Amino acid sequence: MIRYLPKLMLTLDEIKDEPSLLIHALTGCMFHCFRCFNYEELVEKVHDEVYEIDDVVAYIQKQDHLFDNIILSGGELMLAPLESLISDLGLIRKTTQKPVIIYTTGLELAKMKNLHDRGLVDGYHIDMKLPYHLLTDDDYDLIEMTMGIRLRSLDLVKRLEEALAFVVETDAGKSQIRSVRYPFLDETAFAECKFHVDALNHRYNKSTPYFINAFIDPEATKK
Ligand code: SF4
Repeated sequence: MIRYLPKLMLTLDEIKDEPSLLIHALTGCMFHCFRCFNYEELVEKVHDEVYEIDDVVAYIQKQDHLFDNIILSGGELMLAPLESLISDLGLIRKTTQKPVIIYTTGLELAKMKNLHDRGLVDGYHIDMKLPYHLLTDDDYDLIEMTMGIRLRSLDLVKRLEEALAFVVETDAGKSQIRSVRYPFLDETAFAECKFHVDALNHRYNKSTPYFINAFIDPEATKK
């Protein structure tokens, strides 16, 4: 059973000019990215009250006219068991015609493909935290600083790179790739990411957009 934050948000900030319903799943996260804005609330905190899928579906039924998209985010939603993802997304599909978008790091590519093949997801907004395609064994410190995990091989990075390609290849107009402007990254890192996304779009004849989101420092907002 997937637990959800009992605070569903109507937002105009996530997709330009399109009101969206943002749903956060309390499914943890494998990463601990540099000063993650959501980590305390969505990953570390033990919530006494949570929503289950029936609560989410009831909200959607009542408020369906207010938004154009449903966005499911984490933490990392895709850490939930596949059966639970299929079941919950299936219930959302039965409840509304609105497109369903999942925010993900891309680390669960097999689940992403499964949900896509079942027609349960209309788009993935996938992180490109670093120019994965350029990383080498010399970059483990940079990966740790950015994503909060210490790697001993580049296998995970390769999987993230494959997930990016999958998202572009299967994009039907609802997917995005996005980076965060971490303050320690040089502008060339984002130029390389953009270059890579352009190459994927060219390879698959797509136009998946690439965005660089501002870094929001949780320490600064606490002051
Ligand atoms: S993947 Fe997202 S939720 Fe997880 S630590 Fe990074 S920024 Fe935070």
